[in-house]
Amino acid sequence: MMTAINPENGVAALARLIAEARSAVVFTGAGISTESGIPDFRSPGGIWTRMAPIYFDDFLASETARRETWRRRFAMEDTFGAAEPNRGHRAVDALVRRGKVGAVITQNIDGLHQASGIPAEKIVELHGNTTYAACLDCATRYAATISFGQAMPQEEMRRAEIATLAADLFIVLGSSLVVYPAAAFPELAKRNGAVLAIVNREPTGLDELADLVIHQGIGDTLGAAVGVN
Ligand code: NAD
Repeated sequence: MMTAINPENGVAALARLIAEARSAVVFTGAGISTESGIPDFRSPGGIWTRMAPIYFDDFLASETARRETWRRRFAMEDTFGAAEPNRGHRAVDALVRRGKVGAVITQNIDGLHQASGIPAEKIVELHGNTTYAACLDCATRYAATISFGQAMPQEEMRRAEIATLAADLFIVLGSSLVVYPAAAFPELAKRNGAVLAIVNREPTGLDELADLVIHQGIGDTLGAAVGVN
């Protein structure tokens, strides 16, 4: 385990791990999109300091909860619609183009990895994305975001597991790593022998497990490590 280090050493150490890797996986959370203007949940000032999450069981049971879910959803539409990929997204895209990163596993629902140019087949969206909605009555399966307390999509979980087991370097960008089962992927990668690197402004649930922890912004850190502006 390596403790958090200063920015210059962190960039150099991350660049070295990337250079040494043959097949890396990038795992992203809401933190990679804050530099695009989309707030995360758990940072100071994040969404959860302003509103409580709505769990799927409550969504099903209560019309008020459903209305509030959709009110929030449409309130977020302008923020999501105006957001563009930032330096962090561009750096991840560069790693995919160079063949260094084979898969990007994301908890995000904003579609900014696709917008940065990464082909859809290289992206695993663990929580779906906001482009589609699902019918809860007729069981027709449309792509949709999942709610808190709702089961994870099986196919995406399977793809994420296969990608994780193939990685010799697993890079976490902007996730507090306290939400399971998503946070289980970095743990699985580490158990399987991969090097684990975490870039997150605040401490995460898995800092103790990681080989490299950088408590800095993603854009400047990964951008500098990869040589992308
Ligand atoms: P989180 O809010 O739990 O954690 C985000 C972490 O990113 C925080 O620890 C914060 O310190 C860090 N961070 C924020 N900006 C950063 C930056 N510029 N550089 C480095 N670190 C930064 O988010 P999570 O762990 O991804 O999980 C919460 C859930 O929120 C996910 O399931 C996701 O679906 C959902 N969510 C998605 C979006 C989105 O799609 N953009 C936005 C908000 C929430």
